[in-house]
Amino acid sequence: MYDLVIKNGTVVTAVSTYAADVGIAGEQIAAIGQDLHGARELDAAGKLVVPGAVDIHVHMQMPLPGVISADDFFTGTRAAAFGGTTTIIDFVEAQPAQSLVDALAARRAEADPRVAIDYGLHMTLGPHEMDKLAQVPDAYAAGCASFKLYMAYGFRLTDDQMLRALEAVRAVDGLPVVHAENWDVICELVTRNVRHGRTSPHWHPRSRPALMEGEAAGRVIDIAALVGTRLHIFHVSCAAVVARIAAARRRGLPITGETCPQYLFLTEEAYDAPGIAGTLPVCAPPLRPQADQDALWRALAQGDLQLVTTDHCPFPKADKARGLHDFSQIPGGVPSIEMRFAAVYSRGVRSGLLTPNQWVAMCCTTPARLAGLTHKGDIAVGYDADLVIFDPHTTRTLSTATLHENVDWTPYDGLELTGWPAVTLSRGQVIVEGGVFKGAAGNGRFINRAA
Ligand code: MN
Repeated sequence: MYDLVIKNGTVVTAVSTYAADVGIAGEQIAAIGQDLHGARELDAAGKLVVPGAVDIHVHMQMPLPGVISADDFFTGTRAAAFGGTTTIIDFVEAQPAQSLVDALAARRAEADPRVAIDYGLHMTLGPHEMDKLAQVPDAYAAGCASFKLYMAYGFRLTDDQMLRALEAVRAVDGLPVVHAENWDVICELVTRNVRHGRTSPHWHPRSRPALMEGEAAGRVIDIAALVGTRLHIFHVSCAAVVARIAAARRRGLPITGETCPQYLFLTEEAYDAPGIAGTLPVCAPPLRPQADQDALWRALAQGDLQLVTTDHCPFPKADKARGLHDFSQIPGGVPSIEMRFAAVYSRGVRSGLLTPNQWVAMCCTTPARLAGLTHKGDIAVGYDADLVIFDPHTTRTLSTATLHENVDWTPYDGLELTGWPAVTLSRGQVIVEGGVFKGAAGNGRFINRAA
């Protein structure tokens, strides 16, 4: 007799599909088999039983100059749970004079009382951290097994700094995760466009060329090869980066890449919408032409990209409007955390492009393994009972009325999906059922990924 049994479902993992009951004892999966019985039983007949989705790239209550991203650790993780995501990885940015472990403690103090699902944190290593690289082992030991390195923005590392940071991360066998764009070229193109009055969002993608995203990815891949470290490329938007990752993997290098729903469902024409509407989908890297979107789907199907994350970082319309007359002043980021898992199923699996197992691999299992979440992202005895009963037949039209993110717009308004989570469990507890949130702020836990 288990505490909870999910009965009569079709279990889908990254490698297999089979009919089985899943028995849960306490917070863990205790049995997978036939005719299991529990104090509580959930009927999953006609539905898929899949691992809770893992999103290793999100920004809750992220401060930018003068603004802060709109989902906090509660509203963002609640929206994640509605969409079937049961673990996120967010970020820590240290103040210039702050130690890495003090910064981690401060970020955990923001998150721990608020999170409704489990979470981890990437440690950012910016220019101010170049004199803190000796603290990287401390950050690793405190649970940050991955380190964010930027090639853009104020956090941007020059190539010599990138070399030193990659060496420090390799020394602890951490995972470097990189925002790859060519910042010098972007700055010149932005300055030139604004100076000539080309200030509408139309000029945002034209100031951040795909060719230069590819150049930056290729450059950091080669620096990583020199150092002898693995490397994960964040938010791949275009075929130019796919080609660099695929070529590196053919060389046998341990390079991985992710893309995000905004690049899989939207194109750069969105920036030509009139007025404030054109400012909303500003994000970096920017949305690209249809040909790039097609290349990203192909790359996922062929294994040239390994995972889908969100880079969830919404700002309300009023914040986006700051850049109505100067695209360079628009805070970048879009909301995708709730729709990601179902959206990849709906467009990817139902079209026949992806198998259900590939869908689970790229949204659950591969991100968990890459990020060191050793008890997440799979359905196996001893794993955390983070599970989703997924109804492959239900339909949902996305809008701010149907989504739960704390923001007054969605770039996917009107998008119709087939397939949506019916029940979400976090460590054995039902946290969403029948469209009702049953979790609570603070029930999520920080996952020490070095443990
Ligand atoms: Mn990001």
